[in-house]
Amino acid sequence: MTNPQDHGHDHPHNHGHDHTPIEMVDVPGYYEVMETAVRELLTAKGLISANDIRHQIEVLDSRTPALGAQVVARAWTDPAFKARLLADGRKGCEELGISFYDDTQLIVLENTETVHNLIVCTLCSCYPRPVLGLPPDWYKLKPYRARAVSEPRKVLAEFGTDIPDDVEIRVSDSTAVVRYLVLPRRPQGTEGWSRDDLAAIVTRDAMIGVIPVTTDRKAA
Ligand code: FE
Repeated sequence: MTNPQDHGHDHPHNHGHDHTPIEMVDVPGYYEVMETAVRELLTAKGLISANDIRHQIEVLDSRTPALGAQVVARAWTDPAFKARLLADGRKGCEELGISFYDDTQLIVLENTETVHNLIVCTLCSCYPRPVLGLPPDWYKLKPYRARAVSEPRKVLAEFGTDIPDDVEIRVSDSTAVVRYLVLPRRPQGTEGWSRDDLAAIVTRDAMIGVIPVTTDRKAA
């Protein structure tokens, strides 16, 4: 607790509030009012409790791309698991202990020498949250949602990803019930790596399909 530089010094904490008080001036918007009303109604009717809501937020916050990275690393190192994962993405993830707290299905799309997959939700922000957590802001914004479909090669180039002309780009549009996860190609030079080392180089963006997995990240 003690900072050596402070040792022996009298260091009065300034509780005199020399900063401007933080004022809450925001008026709740339409959706905030709606959310509060629906939540209070559901709680008052006994359909859900405040603890149910707290718990669900805790579950959502516990999901990060590290989960998806484990799935990818396992698929790269276990051909039988990979086959099961490609046959049923959700079951494959559940095998690794990743629970699905919603009614979504998961389709895992494998990148190959000839096919590069990219995922989008053209309508809103559907995303494989159980395995990746919350989507990045750009994923939810209109430019990506529209252009990923109309000019995917150009969008990928803007992420620094140049896909050769002879490689087909497949864009998959997520829905409320069907979500996608890209299984990126395993980079060369990673033969013999442990699953943990492999998982460490698998990024969120690679599992969305906007960049490949490279070994740069391990060196960093
Ligand atoms: Fe959506």
